[in-house]
Amino acid sequence: MKIFVGQIVALFVLFVIFTPIERIFALHKEKKIFRKGFRTDVFHFLFNRFLTDIGTFIAVVIIAVSLSWFVSKDFQALLASQPFWLQFLEAVLIVNICGYFAHRLAHTVPFLWKFHSVHHSSEELDWLAAARLHPIDQIVSRSIAIVPLYILGFTKEVFGAYIVLALFHAIFIHSNVRFKFRFLRGIIATPEYHHWHHSNHEEALNKNFAGQLPILDILFGTFYHPKEKVPKTYGINEPMPKGYLAQLKHPFVKPR
Ligand SMILES: [Zn+2]
Ligand SMILES: [Zn+2]
Repeated sequence: MKIFVGQIVALFVLFVIFTPIERIFALHKEKKIFRKGFRTDVFHFLFNRFLTDIGTFIAVVIIAVSLSWFVSKDFQALLASQPFWLQFLEAVLIVNICGYFAHRLAHTVPFLWKFHSVHHSSEELDWLAAARLHPIDQIVSRSIAIVPLYILGFTKEVFGAYIVLALFHAIFIHSNVRFKFRFLRGIIATPEYHHWHHSNHEEALNKNFAGQLPILDILFGTFYHPKEKVPKTYGINEPMPKGYLAQLKHPFVKPR
């Protein structure tokens, strides 16, 4: 119940913060506040948290226990003794490297795409579109981020700081804003960079997989961030049900 109340408060706070920003600095001015799929995404925002938290906890405990032999206690102590900022930078780098390959697999392995395609089914992007994620997709991506940090022995403070920052950043990069952040191009993922990941333009398909560090896309040849144009359309070229429960069921339904 507490989590549910927390999610309602968070939804309200984010709505109050992002609605005026998206109105004043809109990238796509024609997009309405209560756009297509808004209600479905509210359900994703409110209910996924229960499923994701439980699932991630179970997955992390199982994987972390079975891999705990992998890193010595001395190494963990050495890592945890580093200054906070250094641990934080290392954590960002590790999560981004693991996350990059996991995200790329989610686009290329058909079984994984069934789950990840739910996130890509939004045809209009805004801050709330960040919530549209299949819980299993979310459990996999979170576990991939948390397990290495846990096994290597990063401190709770680093975990906490990274999770808060990553959540807020994920919401921000989906928002319907026209800020260019030119100085961050190729350095930190911006709304423009992630909007290209969601666009269904032929030239942008399977590009921009990094969570926060686009340098990984540059290194592995998947960077797409043209200077003089913006994505016009988003979504997937395959059917996706509109309702929340139907989207949760979608990966398990045989295509006709
Ligand atoms: Zn994706
Ligand atoms: Zn996204």
